[in-house]
Amino acid sequence: MKLHEYQSKKIFADYGVPIPKGNVTSNPTEARKIAEELGGRVVVKSQVLVGGRGKAGGIKLANSPEEAEAMAEQILGLTIKGLPVRKVLIDEAADIQTEIYLGITNDRAARMPVFMASAAGGVDIEEVAAKTPEKIIKVHIDPLLGLQDFQVLNLAVGIEISRDLWPQFYQVAHGLWKAYKEYDATLAEINPLIVTGSGQLMAVDGKMLIDENALFRHQNLETERDLDLEAESETEAKEFGLTYIKLDGEIGCMVNGAGLAMATMDIIKHFGGEPANFLDIGGGANEEKVAAALRIILKDPNVKAVLINIFGGITRGDLVAKGILSALQEVQPEIPMIVRLVGTNAAEGRRLLSAAKMITAQTLAEAAQKAVNASKGEF
Ligand code: GDP
Ligand code: MN
Repeated sequence: MKLHEYQSKKIFADYGVPIPKGNVTSNPTEARKIAEELGGRVVVKSQVLVGGRGKAGGIKLANSPEEAEAMAEQILGLTIKGLPVRKVLIDEAADIQTEIYLGITNDRAARMPVFMASAAGGVDIEEVAAKTPEKIIKVHIDPLLGLQDFQVLNLAVGIEISRDLWPQFYQVAHGLWKAYKEYDATLAEINPLIVTGSGQLMAVDGKMLIDENALFRHQNLETERDLDLEAESETEAKEFGLTYIKLDGEIGCMVNGAGLAMATMDIIKHFGGEPANFLDIGGGANEEKVAAALRIILKDPNVKAVLINIFGGITRGDLVAKGILSALQEVQPEIPMIVRLVGTNAAEGRRLLSAAKMITAQTLAEAAQKAVNASKGEF
């Protein structure tokens, strides 16, 4: 789950990271009032769950409350990378001397969180990572020991911040780590962490991703969740208890079990195709779930063929077949559908499906090969 800038910064502030004074609103008149309270010069910042808002015109500096109102009105009318701007954050304008990057994420290969820092922070950090990776200092954090002071020192020295700032840097780094850990985050990022003209560190931007499997431990976040700004299909999937992740390929996949879903994606790639999604309908999937899964897959305009791979254990083949049939009535797809159904009640399932125009397969290899061919218009 992605958090907005204003939500992330509020959490960072709770952990002792200094942030600018500010407030969020969806109303331009309100934006002017906030600017008046802040005393004039403010930044008006679109709150959308994508990066690069600055470059997309979603962040503007206003010299007066009137200007803040006009800019809020303009920014609230924008769509940035496909997402409508529904809220703006009005922050006291900061006096920026230096922009530092700070971020913590999970390094799966190292099986540890990694803390990254760079003196080349700001809007081009992706370019820095690609072209001059040596400018990003990394330390791995042992999850049992937590962030150690010597590691913070290594970061501070690595990015060459002045010694006067070290005490503040300690506070920010430990605060960010604590927020990351206690919120079960998979990313906690400050970009930029600025040094102001008067020598203060301050988080001007913030981003957090929370592990959705841990959301039950963070009820306060559940209520703040911005559903309409997440991918619509992923939200619908959640409603039906499906695990769906959209990918960029052209073969839609409906599979029961995460392991089998991964294997299905691998074998599609093996035969030269690309999966359009990861989708696990779970064990004991019923007709309603299957129908929802198929609807979600077919909403993706990139999908040229669908591969249904069901290994019936608890999941019953006949119920899956009924789900497919009822979804077909609803969405009436024009694209080829390949089904591999084995296990409990598979024969009954296949009998039900034989009436519909489905391509059946006995083995997973055969099904994947057929799906790849079908996605390329070859039968
Ligand atoms: P992003 O583009 O989505 O990453 O949004 P940021 O909040 O990081 O803002 C982008 C850039 O706008 C920052 O790197 C700063 O250079 C600039 N910026 C943001 N807030 C302020 C501010 O209060 N004052 C000034 N002068 N610049 C700001
Ligand atoms: Mn930023």
